[in-house]
Amino acid sequence: MPVVLEGGCLCGKVRFTASQPPLRTFACHCTFCQRVTGTSFFAESIFPMDAVRFNDGELKRYEHVSEGSQKKVFVHFCPSCGTTVGLTFERWPDLRAISRGCYDDPNAVEVTSHIWTESAQTGVVLPAGIECFARARAQLGGQAEPATKHAMPVLARPA
Ligand SMILES: [Zn+2]
Ligand SMILES: [Zn+2]
Repeated sequence: MPVVLEGGCLCGKVRFTASQPPLRTFACHCTFCQRVTGTSFFAESIFPMDAVRFNDGELKRYEHVSEGSQKKVFVHFCPSCGTTVGLTFERWPDLRAISRGCYDDPNAVEVTSHIWTESAQTGVVLPAGIECFARARAQLGGQAEPATKHAMPVLARPA
């Protein structure tokens, strides 16, 4: 398989390769993503499950039940250094998320939307010209939510 992207955890025991560019890369400001990363938001890429291959480094899995959907989200992390390498989802069994910060070159992918901006932290700025969603891109039933594009960078939440 071709190697389009590669990366790994902080200590280097977990390594992965992707055989295609991600389907999309976005920044999520939901409270789950804030807590699981320990920072302001989670920039993550979505891939078809079989497009990402891992080495044999141990990867542990933590199960979290999503408040919104009541479905499980699986956090995949390195037990040696604690890095969250990505997520998988009970709701979307054919997809996996990879943490943008784990790529050897995080700038090889472009963030094309910000979601759950209604729960963004103070001081976070939303860039101009990309799709921003107050909550998810779609409702639980699948109906698309409207996107906002800002003409200038704006604070996600007034200070
Ligand atoms: Zn590690
Ligand atoms: Zn999130």
